[in-house]
Amino acid sequence: MTARRLNGKELAKTIRAEVSAKVAERTRKGQRPPGLAAVLVGDNPASHVYVRNKHKACADAGLASWVHNLPAETTQAQLLDMVAKLDADPQVHGILVQLPLPKQIDENAVIRAISPAKDVDCFHPENMGLLAAGHPRFYPCTPHGVFQMLARNGIETAGKEVVIVGRSNIVGKPLALMLAQKRTAANPAGGDATVTIAHTRTRDLAAICRRAEILVAAVGVPRAITPEMVTPGAVVVDVGINSVDGKLVGDVHEAAAEMASWLSPVPGGVGPMTIAMLLVNTLSAAEQIDG
Ligand code: NAP
Repeated sequence: MTARRLNGKELAKTIRAEVSAKVAERTRKGQRPPGLAAVLVGDNPASHVYVRNKHKACADAGLASWVHNLPAETTQAQLLDMVAKLDADPQVHGILVQLPLPKQIDENAVIRAISPAKDVDCFHPENMGLLAAGHPRFYPCTPHGVFQMLARNGIETAGKEVVIVGRSNIVGKPLALMLAQKRTAANPAGGDATVTIAHTRTRDLAAICRRAEILVAAVGVPRAITPEMVTPGAVVVDVGINSVDGKLVGDVHEAAAEMASWLSPVPGGVGPMTIAMLLVNTLSAAEQIDG
């Protein structure tokens, strides 16, 4: 079997065009465009690339967007001051503080300082709580990108055995919550699936992975998921982005394509979907704040 590609790049383009049409409609009615303010502290090269891509995607879709570059030695007080200013600015509907932050800054303190209404990354505990309760204000971008990638390719999650390798607050944990939840009008990205979360303490990871009809890798280890861990015909979503010898590779070994029915490529899979869902959240924030 050679897996079909879950083409995130194309799908992200479609979703960004949907956002762009809604933004144009709002501006036609005289409403201000949704605005995203990104804050970047220090000079992590990967973070610079991510923020640049997000900024460009906003501009292309007609959103207002600002990038605030702060030096690596920025203090926590200075960063909190900037967050407070953005929070008070009515042109700013979404605030994104790019992680990771330099070690003198407590990431949790910064995440909590962003008002939940503008927390378009959906990292604030209030938004995580609403998600856990099944009444999300926003869906977190990467998990939502995975959900949309499955749903819009006609891959039903309801009743399926899903295994997610990874339990981070950014990917594995919220994705597990979403896919396990009941699908309702308030929670349209509830997956109704039977979900297993695997991590470094999991015994016999390969056997657990082989139970999966849908296998999601969010491990952060290049090619950690090998073909023997994939049951024939499984749908495999590779969230991983790792740089190996100057090349981007996922958390799934390329040879898994011989076992899977569908596989998301790296690059061009979940990465572009994450950015598209950030635009969706910024539009949603503007709708919730401005009406
Ligand atoms: P993370 O915070 O490092 O979490 C990794 C998770 O994988 C942890 O729960 C860890 O278990 C588990 N794990 C690590 N090694 C394992 C192993 N050998 N066996 C089983 N479980 C293992 O990473 P993350 O932020 O979730 O990101 C995961 C990957 O996705 C990274 O490659 C990252 O670059 C990528 N990513 C991509 C996007 C995108 O837009 N495509 C967005 C975010 C992240 P423990 O909890 O036990 O330590």
